[in-house]
This record gives sequence, structure tokens and C-alpha cells, in this order.
Amino acid sequence: RIVYVNGEYLPEEDAKISVFDRGFLFADGVYEVTSVLNGKLVDFDGHAKRLQRSLDELDMPNPVTFEELLEINRELIARNGLEEGGVYLQITRGAADRDFAYPANPKPTIVLFTLVMNISGSPKAETGLKVISIEDQRWGRRDIKTVQLLYPSMGKMMAKAAGADDAWMVEEGVVTEGTSNNAYIVTRDGKIVTRQLSNAILHGITRAAVLRMAEEAQMVVEERPFTIEEAQNAAEAFITSATTFVTPVVEIDGATLGDGAPGPIAKRLREIYMDEARAKAI
Ligand code: PMP
Repeated sequence: RIVYVNGEYLPEEDAKISVFDRGFLFADGVYEVTSVLNGKLVDFDGHAKRLQRSLDELDMPNPVTFEELLEINRELIARNGLEEGGVYLQITRGAADRDFAYPANPKPTIVLFTLVMNISGSPKAETGLKVISIEDQRWGRRDIKTVQLLYPSMGKMMAKAAGADDAWMVEEGVVTEGTSNNAYIVTRDGKIVTRQLSNAILHGITRAAVLRMAEEAQMVVEERPFTIEEAQNAAEAFITSATTFVTPVVEIDGATLGDGAPGPIAKRLREIYMDEARAKAI
């Protein structure tokens, strides 16, 4: 695989980062994952804007312009012959003497690499996911897409140990989001419910697109928190993220939703989303 590091395209074994990189020492870095369909980027604009917002919130300089970033993404997709999967991007505050205070003149590190994934034909889209609930023990600025992903990793391991696919995190009795996705239910009267944006969750790029598409398709959307109990009694549930698009959830803490098969609204939203993603990818 060819990866991009600070201006160079290199075989992955030749790519090097300093042991003093603040991304490594302090998780002082942000990231994005943009999906790729037919060799093209899905919602690049949204991911580039959120990247800038994450950097701004952390007073971290952006080493690339929007146009440069697009060019790097395209070059990397071409060099790796990537048809379907994603591009992972990470920017850190770079190497500096180990000090909690930020360095005065940071020289950011930028890394991009491709990920091969079958996202359009994922088997989980057909069978649905099983999720468990866990307490949300992450920090309070989940709107910033930092590389501090240890608690979500622990959540994934707890899900695995319980024979489930993922964990939905719960804070003050209501669901925040999945370990790496936004969480939704569909009420028995057909309303799509997902938590409103705040610092408690990541502002999903897929979330924004799916909610817009749902409204365009005359579906009713309610942005409010919900409990695990409400989710277990809902007609349907699903998640969204760049690499899962819309994926149905069929079991929550051992309780089967409906007849245990993916629901019609989740299926329809997945189709609408994929059609538009394919049509608009750049
Ligand atoms: N929430 C969390 C915690 C995530 O890690 C992600 C995926 N990066 C999402 C939501 C979904 O965001 P997006 O649709 O932009 O991939």
C-alpha cells in the first residue's frame, strides 16, 4: 500500500513518524474517514469542513488547503487502485518536546492511507446488527473528532465478548451514539428519532445527509434523546456512519426488535443514501 505522509507518497513500510509526535504521546490529533465508491469520494466536502472545525476547536493549524486535500485523496486512490473502501486522514500537532502545553510553533503531521472495504455489499446490511448498551465514559467534547478512541475500542470489545456487533453508549439514562456511528430508532408510528446535535455526540456527516434525505422523502424526523427501553420497544433501529452508510439494528441488549429482520425504513434510507452517494461522489 502507498500512504501519504507530510508531502510524500511512500510504501507503507517506509513511512515514519517521530516518537515525539503529539498524536502518539497525547492523542493530540484529529481524523476523518471518507468513504470511496467506484474510486470516488463520498461527501468529501462535508468531511473537509468537519476536519477544519475539529482543527479550529483545538487551535491546530491545517497544513493543507481544501484543494490540496482533494488532490492528495485522489492521488492516493489512484496510486492504490482503490475501487471501494475509504480514505483515512489524520492530522496531529506534530513532534515537540514532551510538554502538556502546546508548542509555540507546531509543525503538524498529516497522514493519509486507503482502506479496502466492501461497504456497498456488507452482509450486515441484510442481517442487521446486534448491539449492547454500555455507559458512555468518553470525555465531554465528542463533537471534536479526535484520535482518543480507547473507550470506543473498549466498547467494541465489550460488545464482542457479549456476542454482539457494537455498543450503544448511554449517558444520564439516554443513548448518545454507537462506538463509531450515530444511533436511531423508528417509532411504531413511523417517526425517525435521533439525538439532537451537541457536544455529547459526533456531528455525523452521514447523519446530516440521511436526515435531509428522510425529510425530502416526506418522512418525519424527531431530534431528541431516547432510552434503551424505548429503543427495545421501537419498530426499527439503525446506525449511520461513512463506512456503514445506513445499517439496520435488530437486537438491543438481547431484545429482538419487531420480527428480528431489518425494518423497511432503514432499508429504504440505505437505498436512497447509496443512490445519492454514488451519483454525487467526486
Ligand atoms: N459517532 C462517532 C463516535 C463516530 O466515530 C462516527 C464515525 N466516525 C460517527 C458518529 C459517524 O460519523 P460519520 O457519518 O461522519 O462517519
